Amino acid sequence: MPKNAIESKSKMWNLWHGCHKLSAGCQHCYVYRGDAKRDIDSSVVAKTKNFELPIQKKRNDEYKIPSGTLVYTCFTSDFFVEDADLWRGEAWEMMRVRQDLHFIMITKRIDRLQETLPADWGDGYDNVTICCTIENQDRADYRLPIYKAAPIKHKILICEPLLERIDLQSYDICSWIEQVVVGGESGYNTRPCNFDWVMELHDVCVENKVSFWFKQTGAKFIKDGKLYDIKRQFQHSQARKAGINLK
Ligand code: SF4
Repeated sequence: MPKNAIESKSKMWNLWHGCHKLSAGCQHCYVYRGDAKRDIDSSVVAKTKNFELPIQKKRNDEYKIPSGTLVYTCFTSDFFVEDADLWRGEAWEMMRVRQDLHFIMITKRIDRLQETLPADWGDGYDNVTICCTIENQDRADYRLPIYKAAPIKHKILICEPLLERIDLQSYDICSWIEQVVVGGESGYNTRPCNFDWVMELHDVCVENKVSFWFKQTGAKFIKDGKLYDIKRQFQHSQARKAGINLK
């Protein structure tokens, strides 16, 4: 992912909305939590009015999203959810046309990547980062071999919500992962995240010289055997205070 894009500007592109719960990490999905407040059924997947945002233009014929922008893609769904199969081709095409933008998406359905790629994908578009989420060892052992073999130019591993200790030792992460991101679970009735598990992932990254970002603690956080309730507004800053991020 181009560093200057991150430092300059970013934009959210939620091209479809809604999803289906798939694995343990989905239990307290923020899409479902947000929709519940507005009485929206999150299991209905529908295109949004922003579907064509990357190619929309202003009156002066300039694109609405300026060149060099980092585009957070599909953050109220999963880009590879089955319901969106008919629309995904157009989405890939917009990413191909806007090579001056960098698109980043997160998926729990990395096992659907191969069957949904555009014909000219090759070993990946330079301007697309696809992040794979794992939440426990079981999903790590299922998704990581698929993710490792997948033709993607930029790979970031997201361990969030981290629900248990995850051993990455056997995955040779230095050769194919750009960054590991770790976080706890937010919301109500959340499952705790233990700082020891975070540190184990951190140590693997140190060993393998891979960038590491402890993004947020989650609402329930265990440190030195003590359980802390952390309010939403402090979950990111508390993680930062741990001082364990690696560039
Ligand atoms: S895959 Fe992501 S968006 Fe879909 S239900 Fe699970 S957590 Fe929510």
